[in-house]
Amino acid sequence: MKATNRRLVLGPRRRSAFVLALAAVIANRGDAQQNRPYRPAFDVTDYQIAIDLPDTGATIHANATLTVTKPGRADALVLDLLDLTVNSVTVDGRSVKFVRGPGTIEIPLPVKRGANPTYQISVDYGGAVTDGLIARVDSAGRWTYFGDNWPNRARHWIPSIDHPSDKATVTWRVTAPASQTVVGNGKLVSTRTVRRDGNERTETVWRESKRIPVYLMVIAAAPLERLDLGDTACGLAEGQRCVPQFVYTAPEQRDVVPGPFARAGEIVQLFGRLVGPFPYEKLAHLQSSTRFGGMENASEIFYADGAFRRRTMNEGLIAHETAHQWFGDAVTEREWAHLWLSEGFATYFAALWTRAARGDSAFRAQLAEIRSTVLADTQSVTKRPVIDTIETNYLELLNRNSYEKGGFVLHMLRAQVGERAFFDALRSYYLKHRHSTAVTDDLRAEMERESKQNLGWFFDQWLRRPGYPEVTATWSYDAAAHEASIKVAQNPRFGLFQLPLMISVIDSSGAAHQATVELSGKTDAPQQVRVPLPSAPARMVLDPNVDALARLTVVGPTP
Ligand SMILES: [Zn+2]
Repeated sequence: MKATNRRLVLGPRRRSAFVLALAAVIANRGDAQQNRPYRPAFDVTDYQIAIDLPDTGATIHANATLTVTKPGRADALVLDLLDLTVNSVTVDGRSVKFVRGPGTIEIPLPVKRGANPTYQISVDYGGAVTDGLIARVDSAGRWTYFGDNWPNRARHWIPSIDHPSDKATVTWRVTAPASQTVVGNGKLVSTRTVRRDGNERTETVWRESKRIPVYLMVIAAAPLERLDLGDTACGLAEGQRCVPQFVYTAPEQRDVVPGPFARAGEIVQLFGRLVGPFPYEKLAHLQSSTRFGGMENASEIFYADGAFRRRTMNEGLIAHETAHQWFGDAVTEREWAHLWLSEGFATYFAALWTRAARGDSAFRAQLAEIRSTVLADTQSVTKRPVIDTIETNYLELLNRNSYEKGGFVLHMLRAQVGERAFFDALRSYYLKHRHSTAVTDDLRAEMERESKQNLGWFFDQWLRRPGYPEVTATWSYDAAAHEASIKVAQNPRFGLFQLPLMISVIDSSGAAHQATVELSGKTDAPQQVRVPLPSAPARMVLDPNVDALARLTVVGPTP
């Protein structure tokens, strides 16, 4: 996802040491549990959601049938659902007495023999939706309906286990006025005309056959026009198929296409080659009413309406949201604290698209921009680690840590393990965890296996503590010895970091002489390098290729 609001983090935070320690204990207990830290006794494997949309207004009638297995011990299933009225609940076709809490439905389950018993839970519900499904009138006065669930707003319209750790397949059966185009996750199964209360309406069925988190389960229903981008990235979809791509816009914006979407096929192709097959049945790009600049819903990316109307849609945003189809959607962060596995990856892969499309110097310029964004941040980067197990307001995790710092850490990891090991590890990480979930240690395990390095120190220094290195290089020139002498020191403000730092000494003829210093994570004693030079250097550049996430200062010459 991309935020529209550049000020991502709200307000200052203060927490006592006790609360921090307590939260760490709770987080560790979560880590030790199985793959579903949220409702560990249950696993929803499939949602079948039937929704009747109105001609106007926000009142829906719906039925959700969930297939649920129970690997743990529990007498009742607790589903998340806010606001709406629950009319009835059945378990395996039998009506049950449920308890409606302020944000939950508690459903008693009959005892079944055997391990992992399965239940069919059917919830009949409805009312006026206030969030999650955004019902609103567009600029031309037409009613539109777009799902917008991140992070846990699906519970405003879908009875669900609303947490990224519980992924499931989903079928959408949407009945809407015939003037609406309905798009859902996965593959279009059918459309047919039905009569409701003397009105002709269209029933559209979409089916996502791959497990996705609830926050990516959405529909669009609006007067949309479909523009076909054709079959793309052939051989790079699961099953060696092609990836059919479409753009859906409001009728007035149809001439936006192809525009920034002209290279949507190449973007899928690049990521497919680098990581592995595209995970879903199609990829649609929609003009929508998401509150975010872009939202990476599985197989149907929703972009902000204004980006189409103001003609500010761009390839960078398309690349970011497309990268999420692999990272975030197919491999989902099991816990919100590991959000960088989604946003950091999308940030870095958008930069890799820049490199493929516009060359290495554009790529380095983008890295420099990412780095200066990290260094300018005073809300999250300097205060919190990227893996932030304390934050419970998940919107606050849409910060410089998850995006820019996470993205730059991937860039440094690539240098640390080498090009081949990095992409081999990413491919095995993807293939091992696609249609499932992962935490940072799953990525570390693949990187360690491919590189044959122990990387605990790397992941700890960059992801489990705040800040970045602050490095000062002081240089002088010894005319008698014909050498430049450079002293490099770290300010231990955020602790010491281990990283290689390239130094480029530019001589009076403009030629660059390079040396690399290995900064130590163990001592803050300055390190010295000498570079033979016939005459005094004209200037010195630290990290000329933008490979180090560090605040860099050059001082000199000294007498
Ligand atoms: Zn994103």
